[in-house]
Amino acid sequence: MNLALRFAKLGTETAFAVAAEARSYMDRGARIFPFHLGDIDLKTPENIIEAANRAMREGKTGYCSNYGIPELREALAEDINGSHGTSYSGYNVAIQPGGKPVIQKFFLSLMNPGDEVLIPTPGYPIYESIVSFHGGKPVLYPYREGKGGFHLDIDDLEKRITPATRLLVFNDLHNPTGAEEDEQSLAALSELAQRHNLLVLCDEAYFDIRYEGQSRSLVSFPGMEERCLILYTFSKKYAMTGWRLGAAVGPRELVDGIAKLNVNDESCSNHFVQYAGLEALTGPQDGSKAILSTLRQRRDRCHELLSAIPGIHCFRPNATFYLFPNVTGVMKRLGLEDYEAFRKAVLDATGVSFCTRLHFGTPLPGERERYIRLSYSGIDLEAIREGIDKLRSFLGGERHKVKSA
Ligand code: PLP
Repeated sequence: MNLALRFAKLGTETAFAVAAEARSYMDRGARIFPFHLGDIDLKTPENIIEAANRAMREGKTGYCSNYGIPELREALAEDINGSHGTSYSGYNVAIQPGGKPVIQKFFLSLMNPGDEVLIPTPGYPIYESIVSFHGGKPVLYPYREGKGGFHLDIDDLEKRITPATRLLVFNDLHNPTGAEEDEQSLAALSELAQRHNLLVLCDEAYFDIRYEGQSRSLVSFPGMEERCLILYTFSKKYAMTGWRLGAAVGPRELVDGIAKLNVNDESCSNHFVQYAGLEALTGPQDGSKAILSTLRQRRDRCHELLSAIPGIHCFRPNATFYLFPNVTGVMKRLGLEDYEAFRKAVLDATGVSFCTRLHFGTPLPGERERYIRLSYSGIDLEAIREGIDKLRSFLGGERHKVKSA
C-alpha cells in the first residue's frame, strides 16, 4: 500500500505508544504504575451520565446541526464569558468531537503552505505533527525551567518571528510542564500577537484543572477576542475523555469555517453526548469539584514523594495534572544519557511507566537538562505511594524485578 506522500510528515502522540507498551507488560502479568497518559481513572459524574441516557431515550439519536445543538453552544458561550470576561454568543461556538479536532481545524482554516507557526516545546506533540502534515513550518519556542516553575521567554519567542509567521499556538496551563504565565507575561504576549498580526490557537484544555489561584486567558486582553480561537474540552474537568466532546470558540467567521469542516468531516458531534455536555455546564458542579479535590490530593502526594528522591528536582504546579521533574542528576548517577534507555530501565525494574521530554515535541539544540513527565490523573493515592517508593529504591540503587520482565 502506498500511502499519500504527506504521511511522511505526520507525527503522532507517542504517549499512546507508551500506554500500549505498559498494557503489554500488564497482559504478561506485570504490576504497572501508570503515570504515562493524561487519561482519567475517575468516573464521569452521575448527573452527566443520566443526561446522556435521558437524551438517548428521548430520541436524540439522529444527526443534529453541524455547529452543535444551540442550547449547548449558548451555555458554553455563557460559561466562557463568565470566566474570561468575553462577549461570545452561541454563534461563536462550534461543538467538536473532543478538544483535539480543534487543532487540525484551526490549521486547516487559517494556514497556507509555507506559513510559519510558533509552537511550544516541550509541548503537546500534535501541534507539530498537524502543521507539518498540512504543509506549514513549525517554529519551536521554548519553555524553560526558571524561578518557581517553567516559563516561556517572550523575547526569545519574538526573535523567532519572520515575515512568514502567521500563527501562534499558546497552551497556558501547559502540558507537560504545568507552566502558567502571569498577568504581565500574558499582557506582553497579547501586545506581541497584535503587533505582529498573529492569529492564536489558545489551547485551554486545562483551564479549569486548577488547585490554587485563578486562571486567566489570553483572550481576555483587549483586542484578543478577535484573533484567538479557544480549544475547549469537557475531557478533563468532567472526567469525560472517552466521550469525545469539546468546542472551538472564537470569531464568527472562523467558527463558520470550522463548522463547514465539521460537515465534511464528522457531519456533527455525537448528538446525545451534547446533552450530557449541557448538563455538565448547567447542572450541579459537585462531581467536577470532587474530581478536582482527588486530583489535588494526588498532586500533593506525588510531589512530596518525588521531591524526596535525591537527584530529582520537581516544581509543584498550581494547575494541570502533570509533574515535570528534572532528572538530570539521577540519569547521571545511573550512567544513562539516553532518555529511552532510562525510561525502559525504570519500567523493567519497577513497573513505573512515564513519558519523557522526548514525547513532547522536537527538542531545541543545546537542551542539556533531562526531564520526565508524570501524570497523576490515572493512578490512585496508594499506587502513587507504592510506585514512587519503588522508583526511589531503584534510583538509589535497589533493584525490583517486574514479574514478567
Ligand atoms: N490539548 C492538550 C494540551 C492536551 O493535553 C489534550 C489532551 O491530553 C488535548 C488538547 C486534547 O484533549 P481532548 O481531545 O480529550 O479534548
